[in-house]
Amino acid sequence: MRKYSVAVLGATGMVGQKFIQILSNHEWFDIKSLVASEKRVGKFYGEEVEWKVSANVPEKVRDIEMLPMDPKKVDADIVFSALPSDTARKVEADFASEGFVVASNASAFRMEKDVPLMIPEVNPEHLGLIEVQKKNRNWDGFIVTNPNCTTIILVLSLKPLMDLGLKRVIVSSMQALSGAGYPGVPSLAIMDNVLPFIKGEEEKVEEEPLKLLGKFNGSEVEYADLTVSASCHRVPVIDGHLEAVWAEFSRDVEVDEVIDAFNSLKPLDLPTSPEKVIIVRKESDRPQPRLDRDEGDGMSITVGRVRKDSSNAIKYLVLGHNTVRGAAGASILNAELMIKEKLI
Ligand code: NAP
Repeated sequence: MRKYSVAVLGATGMVGQKFIQILSNHEWFDIKSLVASEKRVGKFYGEEVEWKVSANVPEKVRDIEMLPMDPKKVDADIVFSALPSDTARKVEADFASEGFVVASNASAFRMEKDVPLMIPEVNPEHLGLIEVQKKNRNWDGFIVTNPNCTTIILVLSLKPLMDLGLKRVIVSSMQALSGAGYPGVPSLAIMDNVLPFIKGEEEKVEEEPLKLLGKFNGSEVEYADLTVSASCHRVPVIDGHLEAVWAEFSRDVEVDEVIDAFNSLKPLDLPTSPEKVIIVRKESDRPQPRLDRDEGDGMSITVGRVRKDSSNAIKYLVLGHNTVRGAAGASILNAELMIKEKLI
């Protein structure tokens, strides 16, 4: 198989660095261009980046000269975007209109009717929106998005519950610091503390699952008949979002059938797919961010404390790595699926 050349937009940020770490050893992708904010253009990545995600900046990107946000200056088959949402709205559209495939982490286009919001194990058929988007916008390229980090971890656990008659979800999140980017939350605000509000987060966690779990009817996605209520909180953990979930069904459910459903979510035959998508722990003190976030190289989620709440409701905890499964790894898995489906 030939290697695909890729570019990273926002390459110096928290998610941009995760992209580079994963892509540096990827069997299908070759990092060709790194695109940065104006102040870094023309500088070498290794000299400029405040590298945070491992001991050293990967050898192969150290001497890449950073480019401006101009599609005419970038050469790549796929553009991975780790830009803030306001910047992404213009820049991602510029790249897609110039013929690039944009795999985006930003929220700018997620809820647009003709833009796929994807989790490959959950809604691969939503890739059908690509044709609708290209036609609507008269673009040669297109944008495919992945969900908010808290949403993706939650929805991977909800997908297998849909067939049991899932109707209503309440979720309370304990979100890691890396989810706020770098430098993110000041240390004096978060040490010995929990922050009870994350701007814009609850709306995303309540709305995005309805699109992700909805049905593509050939021209648009019909939202799932489900309600999600979220309360989101920042905790002093570096990586790994933990979420306490209450799930209510249209019929009585048993813990064993819920666990069987979690175990039934199949992994995909793609390089970044983990061997097991949902790991179910039986111990009463799991999952924990420090112990469980790196399962499946950060691409598995871990569920634990599955227990009955009432006859038609269960509760459990779910944990996932926010910058891997919740961000860079999610976009990369989307790109792998598009290649497998011959959309790139
Ligand atoms: P971050 O650490 O703040 O990084 C932002 C990146 O965008 C940096 O490379 C920055 O470049 C660049 N940038 C900022 N303003 C720019 C501008 N005006 N023009 C060009 N480049 C600009 O943020 P992050 O946590 O990596 O998040 C990136 C995106 O992913 C956001 O949309 C976020 O919501 C989304 N996301 C994050 C997570 C997570 O867990 N962190 C999860 C899911 C989705 P400079 O370094 O040069 O300023």
